[in-house]
Amino acid sequence: MAKIGRKYCNFCGKEEHDVNLLITGLGGVNICNVCAQLASELVSQSQDKSDKFNIEGKNMPKPVELKAYLDQYVIGQDEAKKYLSVAVYNHYKRLMQKHSADDVEIEKSNIIMVGATGTGKTLLARTIAKKLHVPFTIVDATVLTEAGYVGEDIESILTRLLQVANYDVPSAERGIVFIDEIDKIARKGDNPSITRDVSGEGVQQGLLKLLEGSVVNVPPQGGRKHPEQKLIPVNTENILFICGGAFDGIEKKIASRLNTHVVGYNAVINNQRIDTANLMQYIAPQDLKSFGLIPEIIGRLPVLTYLEPLDRTALRRILTEPKNSIIKQYIKLFAMDDIKLIFDEDVFEYIVNKAIEFKLGARGLRAITETIIMDKMYEMPSRHEPQITIDLPYAQSKIEKENFQRLKID
Ligand code: ADP
Repeated sequence: MAKIGRKYCNFCGKEEHDVNLLITGLGGVNICNVCAQLASELVSQSQDKSDKFNIEGKNMPKPVELKAYLDQYVIGQDEAKKYLSVAVYNHYKRLMQKHSADDVEIEKSNIIMVGATGTGKTLLARTIAKKLHVPFTIVDATVLTEAGYVGEDIESILTRLLQVANYDVPSAERGIVFIDEIDKIARKGDNPSITRDVSGEGVQQGLLKLLEGSVVNVPPQGGRKHPEQKLIPVNTENILFICGGAFDGIEKKIASRLNTHVVGYNAVINNQRIDTANLMQYIAPQDLKSFGLIPEIIGRLPVLTYLEPLDRTALRRILTEPKNSIIKQYIKLFAMDDIKLIFDEDVFEYIVNKAIEFKLGARGLRAITETIIMDKMYEMPSRHEPQITIDLPYAQSKIEKENFQRLKID
């Protein structure tokens, strides 16, 4: 159709009187407001994607930088932070390596973090994810072995990664997966011929395939609920796996190994005093084996690190120091209603004491704080008072009413 003499959008063909705005460029070409908006969205989407998952030397965070970032959110756990930062940095370098003539190929170093529940394993993983330029996801190993039903297929571990990468397979193939509760797929006995626990070992064998690096067919929507879905092949060779687990009772295995070593003239341990309050620091691959991980899996998780138990000082710091500490979050919540929330210093000590008394660990800090200020959160927004101070008698009165045994973790 000839449009001689009339101005129209060169992208959608709409005429000037059919659009709100027509922008004219060099050579008399035009674009309407709708097409311009669309073009702008496409540009920003592609920038987002390349900013998010594009790694080059310049935006590759260095280990010291990564650890400094973790320090803002996670208290203590220096050893684990260092290991994690180095592993992530090396992962980037590995992705950038060019195949050179020297035949030196950097292999990936998957990590395993061992530490009691509530010491910050997931927090570390989540925090580092915010700093990353590769797709990252957290999955729970327990879904693979849930009692009473068959559980998920191993491949579904990668479904979330694909989703985070917007189903862009090459991006997902460079991603990082945090597998939580890896200890839950342990075989129940050290000797497979005595205690056969087929499900745990079967899952470990399946996982091995992913850790080793192979092409697996991933259900794009996960699970077995969509049997008709077309599977997407994903190569796991460049995916970094970080595993975490509490390994309840592993201290006993460490202790008995150390004991035998002391008796058996182990030079290093023999010359040192063993810090029995924190045996986790001596963890070694053979302890994971005693716990029930198969040697092949342990071999594919060459970086082994641990998290310290959280003592009183650590709990006190967790309450107020991290960038988004529990107390800072409540202060912000009140500030949004223009109310200044103030805690007396001894209330913090009290909260920590209660968390220890009820064996609630770091997770308990939130529950206890919440109980103390629940009534205030209920009343204050309607009261038009500019400020509220939580003092010790008030905190005590709220906690004494509450049955904290119900919050007890296991
Ligand atoms: P895990 O994965 O080891 O079981 P989480 O990382 O889920 O434990 O920790 C539970 C909660 O306890 C976190 O969300 C955080 O609020 C708090 N927490 C635990 N450890 C730390 C820590 N080292 N520094 C700051 N907060 C922590």
